[in-house]
Amino acid sequence: MGVNKEEIFDKVVNLSKRRGFIFQSAEIYGGFRSTYDYGPVGVLLLRNVKEQWWRSMVQLRQDVVGLDAAILSPPSVWEASGHLTNFTDPLVDCRECGSRFREDKLEDPNTCPSCGQKSSFTEARQFNLMFKTHAGPVIDSAAEVYLRPETAQGMFTNFGNVLNTSRKKPPFGIAQIGKSFRNEITPGNFVFRTREFEQMEMEYFVPPAESDEWFEYWCGERMNWYLNLGMKTESLRLRVHESDELSHYSKATSDIEFSFPWGWDELEGIANRTDFDLNQHAQISGNKLEYNDSGTGERYVPHVIEPAAGATRTAMAFLMDAYDEEEVNGEVRTVLKLDHRLSPYKVAVLPLSKKDELIEPSKQVLDLLQPNWMCDYDQTQAIGRRYRRQDEIGTPYCVTIDFETIEDNAVTVRERDSMSQDRISINELVDYLSSRLVS
Ligand code: ATP
Repeated sequence: MGVNKEEIFDKVVNLSKRRGFIFQSAEIYGGFRSTYDYGPVGVLLLRNVKEQWWRSMVQLRQDVVGLDAAILSPPSVWEASGHLTNFTDPLVDCRECGSRFREDKLEDPNTCPSCGQKSSFTEARQFNLMFKTHAGPVIDSAAEVYLRPETAQGMFTNFGNVLNTSRKKPPFGIAQIGKSFRNEITPGNFVFRTREFEQMEMEYFVPPAESDEWFEYWCGERMNWYLNLGMKTESLRLRVHESDELSHYSKATSDIEFSFPWGWDELEGIANRTDFDLNQHAQISGNKLEYNDSGTGERYVPHVIEPAAGATRTAMAFLMDAYDEEEVNGEVRTVLKLDHRLSPYKVAVLPLSKKDELIEPSKQVLDLLQPNWMCDYDQTQAIGRRYRRQDEIGTPYCVTIDFETIEDNAVTVRERDSMSQDRISINELVDYLSSRLVS
C-alpha cells in the first residue's frame, strides 16, 4: 500500500507520541519549544543508532579510538576554532508581522513566508549560535563559558593527549558521540533542527598528501553505513558542496542527504578540514600540535577528514524511512520496517492469555531471552492487537506462549515483515533468534 511522502511526517510525529518514541519536552507546562524528550522506545532507537555508529567507527577498526569530552568550554577554544567570529547565521525580521528567519534559508529573500508581505525584511544581522553561560557564582566576563556547538573541538584539543597515550599514528581517528547546543534561529521539522541535539563525529588525522584520498574513502564508508542499516538507496544521496558554500575551515565538503518529506536535507557532512584546527589551537594555546615520528624524524601537522553526523536527526530519518502501512485482511497494518539492529525491542514475549498457567512459562521464556536482547513483555489485550503494537514499534520477533506450550514446551515465533510463524522448541529458541538477530 505504501504511504504518501507528504503524509509521512505527520504520521511519524503522531506515532512517536502515541507509542513513546519522542515527546515534547516539558509538555505538562505547555511544552518547551523545539526541545524533545526520548521516551521508553525512542531512547532505545537512539541508543541503537549511536551503538551502530560506534561499532562501525570504533569497535571494528584499529585506527580509531573514542573520546568523551566536556560540554562546557572556555572562550579560548571557540576563539581558536573560529566559532566566536564565524559561527553566525544571518537573521532577518519581518517589519510587518514580526516573524524571524534565517536569511540564507528563505526561498524568496524578498517575501515573508509568514504574512506574504514583500520587501518587509530588516537588514540581516549576524547572530552567533553559541549558548553562553557563566561558570561559578560571579557573572562577569572572566567567568564566561560556552556550551559546545559541536563535539569536534574536543578531539582537536585532546590531539596531543591521545597521540601520547594510544600509540596511534596518522592515519588515525578520534570519535565522539554527545550532545551539542546551538541557539538556532529557526528550529523545526520535529527533531530535524533543535537547539539541543546529539552528534556523532570523528576526526581522522592523515598525512597532508593523503587527504584527498581519505576524503573520498570516508564519503564511501559513511554512505555504506546508512545503506547497510537498511536505509533505501533512493532515500539517500551524496551532494558535493560548491566552493561558495564551504565553511571557513573546509577545503572540500560533501553532504549525505536524506529525502525528507520537505525535500533533500542533510544527515551528515563530510569535510576536509585541512590543518586549520590543529594550527589554530597550537597558535592560541601555545602548545605544539603535530605528529613527530621518532623512527624517521618526520614532523608534520596532520590534515583532518571529518564525518559529522547527527544522531537525533538520523534516528528520525530511520523512522521515516522505515514507516510503512499495508493492507492485511481489509485492515491497515502500520509497521516500522527497521533493521533489527535499530529496533528498540528485538523480541516481545506474549502469553496468549492472562491465565495463570501461561504466565509462569512466559516469565521463564522472558528470563531466558532478556540477558541476550532487549525484550518487551505484554499480557494485555487480544493477541492480534498486541502484534500490531509490536509492528508499530518495529519489533522483529514476537514469541507467543499458548496452552500447547505447557504440553510440547514449544512457542510460536512470528516475524514482523512476513508475519510468518514458526513453532520452535523453547530449548532451541535462543539459537533460533541468535542466528537471525546478528549484530
Ligand atoms: P545546517 O546547515 O543544517 O545548520 P550544519 O551544516 O551546520 O547544519 P554541521 O555543523 O555539519 O551541520 O553538523 C553535523 C551534523 O549535526 C548535521 O549534519 C546534523 O545531522 C547535525 N545537526 C546540526 N545542527 C543540528 C540541529 N540544530 N539539530 C539537530 N541536528 C543537528
